[in-house]
Amino acid sequence: MYKLLFINILFITFGSYSYTQTHGFCGTGAQENHLIRERMFQNRENKSLNSTRSGAIKYVPINYFLTAKNDGTGRLRYIKVLENICDINRIYADQEISFYIRSINDVNNTFIYDDPSSTFGFAALNNIEKNYNNGINLFVASKANGSSQGVLAFYNPTGDYLVSESAQVGGKGYVLAHEIGHFLSLAHTFYGWESTTYDCSQACPTEVFIGGVSVKVEYFDRELTVNGKKHCLISADGFCDTQADYNCGFGFNGCVWSGCMVDPDGKGLNPDEKNIMSYFLNNCHEFFSEEQKAAMARDYASSARSYLRATAHTPLPPVENAPGNPTALINGFNSVNIKWDAVPNATHYILEYAPVSLSTPQFKNHILQRTDTTFTNLTKGTKYAWRVTAYNATNPCPKSTAILSFTNSNFGVGTNDTELELSDVSIQYSGLNQYTINLFANKSELLQFNLYSVDGKLLSSENLNIQAGANSIRKYVDGTGLFLFQLSNSQRSISGKFFAY
Ligand SMILES: [Zn+2]
Repeated sequence: MYKLLFINILFITFGSYSYTQTHGFCGTGAQENHLIRERMFQNRENKSLNSTRSGAIKYVPINYFLTAKNDGTGRLRYIKVLENICDINRIYADQEISFYIRSINDVNNTFIYDDPSSTFGFAALNNIEKNYNNGINLFVASKANGSSQGVLAFYNPTGDYLVSESAQVGGKGYVLAHEIGHFLSLAHTFYGWESTTYDCSQACPTEVFIGGVSVKVEYFDRELTVNGKKHCLISADGFCDTQADYNCGFGFNGCVWSGCMVDPDGKGLNPDEKNIMSYFLNNCHEFFSEEQKAAMARDYASSARSYLRATAHTPLPPVENAPGNPTALINGFNSVNIKWDAVPNATHYILEYAPVSLSTPQFKNHILQRTDTTFTNLTKGTKYAWRVTAYNATNPCPKSTAILSFTNSNFGVGTNDTELELSDVSIQYSGLNQYTINLFANKSELLQFNLYSVDGKLLSSENLNIQAGANSIRKYVDGTGLFLFQLSNSQRSISGKFFAY
């Protein structure tokens, strides 16, 4: 007889930094790169824009908009935002730029979630975006462009926002570091060749065209001058310390390019495979050039970017540790108290949990400002994995507990039929059209949230999915002044007011 040994292994992953190959391309097109390069040229002509590094960190705000379908499903987990911004900060560290979390917003809109590049998705996105003139706005959707599946992410210079497919938000900072490069006035290193394919059987042209606009083809020779001006300053991306690149990376498999392309003088190319603005997307990206960094510093200092500098960010001290003493106290299947010790300098915690039994865990996650909560909506006799992560806006690199577990009991504590109790209901206005609904609920429930103007006109009405425990729900509001709200179910309602300025 075989003696069977059952080992109960907690085999569940909360996701980790994965550096799988990136297959796809940037959706910031030729026309957009043209506008971006024009801005870079204008900034460079403006001698008042300082590009030297002083040692003072520039804190740049980012608003993340995590979209889901109308019913709230499909949203990327909050922890991915922390991993993403942590990685991007590592890439920008030598530029004295540190991105911080201005806000993480839940947006339930199927149009944006399914295709932010569709007509409806675009309109819905613009409607939200116009209310957030306080940071770089990054929309995360299931895909970046529904009709062009290879698009990983893009920057829209007209709307001045970024869009990314959810798979690119996480511990893969390079795709969004590239898009932020566009945001800060960098064109592709191969600018001009977006819609022209190099033909090795033909002589290399001296100019290529984008929508009828001529772009000078860059030469291998860095010292070549035209009318006393370095050719590399006015051709392609406009930088002399990025090598000539005729879109060598597109479709090339590897990080050491070889190919038949030669410049108009017949000299073979040697593109910068590791430059973040190139198209060598198979994990080749490592750096920006010094001229690119100077252009980004000038763009940050420009009047067009004054809104990034409008609110001085007081950096918060580092969050050094994961939450200590994480505990799950099981009173019954419908009452599991979760708590942990407050972490010095942490302002927020992400609580994640999922049943271990599922092959594809369905994670639930909440952003909390308190250090305890109660689950009341669990399945009987089920093993759950959970984890808590501490962070603050300036220090997003996640500090997480180990993955913990509890097995729920089969017996309840008779709270199933209790009436909904809400406590600590408040609305916190955080400036620039953003507010947060905070409340504590004894059970999960769908509530109606109505917003009224001061003269009683109904402005919006929506369902809020309240979770048992602490809730923190981010919203935006059009306009300023006094607003009234009402939170209700069929039995009761709570109302209040807040002031938006
Ligand atoms: Zn790009």
